[in-house]
Amino acid sequence: MSDPLKVLILSAEMVPFAKTGGLADVTGALPKALARLGVDVRVVLPRYSRVDRERFKMTEVLSSFPVPMDDVFETVTILRSDAVPGVPVYFIDNDKFFNREGIYGYPDDGERFILYCRAALEMLRPLGWQPDVLHCNDWHTGIVPNWIKTIYKNDPFFARMATVFTIHNLQYQGLFGWRILEVAGIEEYGFLHHPQIGELADVVDLMARGIHFADVINTVSERYAQEILTPEYGEKLDPLLRDRKDRLFGILNGIDYDEMNPATDRYIARTYDVDHLDQRVENKLALQREAGLPVDASIPLIGMVSRLADQKGFDLLAACFDAMMDCLEVQFVLLGTGDQHYHNVFNEFARRYAGRVAIFLTFNAALAQKIYAGSDMFLMPSRFEPCGLGQMISLRYGSIPIVRHTGGLADTITDFDPRTGEGNGFSFQRYNQIDLYTAIVRAVENYKYTETWRTLQRRGMQADYSWNASARKYIDLYQRACEFHRQEFAAV
Ligand code: ADP
Repeated sequence: MSDPLKVLILSAEMVPFAKTGGLADVTGALPKALARLGVDVRVVLPRYSRVDRERFKMTEVLSSFPVPMDDVFETVTILRSDAVPGVPVYFIDNDKFFNREGIYGYPDDGERFILYCRAALEMLRPLGWQPDVLHCNDWHTGIVPNWIKTIYKNDPFFARMATVFTIHNLQYQGLFGWRILEVAGIEEYGFLHHPQIGELADVVDLMARGIHFADVINTVSERYAQEILTPEYGEKLDPLLRDRKDRLFGILNGIDYDEMNPATDRYIARTYDVDHLDQRVENKLALQREAGLPVDASIPLIGMVSRLADQKGFDLLAACFDAMMDCLEVQFVLLGTGDQHYHNVFNEFARRYAGRVAIFLTFNAALAQKIYAGSDMFLMPSRFEPCGLGQMISLRYGSIPIVRHTGGLADTITDFDPRTGEGNGFSFQRYNQIDLYTAIVRAVENYKYTETWRTLQRRGMQADYSWNASARKYIDLYQRACEFHRQEFAAV
């Protein structure tokens, strides 16, 4: 038997250790699926202070280990946790950069993630583990493909490692000044230049570096891989992405079917499955109780669990919120945190529609599950959506998605047509409040037809959005990256 494929995944977030959004879900679930398929897969994360050493039974595998940074060395400790069965997870421990309350949002984020990436590579030799593929995710890891093609290219330990760069969200690019090149030890190579992207001559864009240097690039749905080639979705990097079009792929995320399972979910009031859908209503009643809304099974309950960011379509929702509440008999529950502006807007709605609208401006994994299990409809009117997990989780829990037809939402949700009976949700095309409102009205209308609604629920719950198929596609992608890398390596 040949050696298993060896893959190191670098990611800033991973369930169950640290999460702000879908990136954590993906890094939590994909490696487990890869391990089941025989890949030797390991993950490396920064150890933020919220990641508890005792709880995850971490052991020190490299103590006081010097990592080059700027023109000095920064000392880190490498910890290992085996809390995720079959997937060793390494942590970069360094008080100065990671002993903080949050994950991102600090003035020295550039330095923090450069140190994390450099330590993640530098630990490999002393650990005696030489991956075939470095799987990098989002801007936090964009420097890695850059290093492999520059400062590490003559080092036989690293030279054969292929790089895969996954774009989970092109909007967050990691923009820094020249100084970060010095911190990363690549100032002699200077800024990236692109004739159609003038900005790159004055700024270090870590996302752009990942795209430029990786052996292959992918996004988290096929549709988004196409969309980002256009100025509308390309976040100014579309010319660079078009140059690398033959290396750009799309693989739809899955969801973790062990974690996201209404039949075993420990957070919800009553477990259920597709054959016991009648039991589901108890979750709706429990959610109404918890949210302080009238407890009534017949009123359609619209749920949302989301980062409160422009991307997620909150401006559209705010624009049609009064119409929705004035013209339709619905209840609305939102769980989310993010932009202060939307905190204020939705607090005001909660006040205006007290007793019909409940707002939870916090991050709460348990309440999220209660909303998936207790809502009738799940709203995601995103402006853009690289993949989106909420709509897949809601399908699995029997809450019918109302989405804008974009990115991964377009790849997973087809609009319900009452004439043919086809479709698994409600979707609208244009980014426009009237179209969103119309989609909500259509959902509320169809909700009145109990049998139709049951059919929609069953369809969603029986569909397969697990990682099985997508993990195989990642293995193909890794192999493709190795092949591209070999060709390039042979050519020099
Ligand atoms: P994104 O990655 O853009 O934030 P996704 O739909 O891909 O959006 O993934 C969001 C994930 O984060 C889902 O698992 C969702 O349930 C979860 N989530 C988002 N906001 C919250 C919150 N306030 N509390 C708990 N879970 C949340």
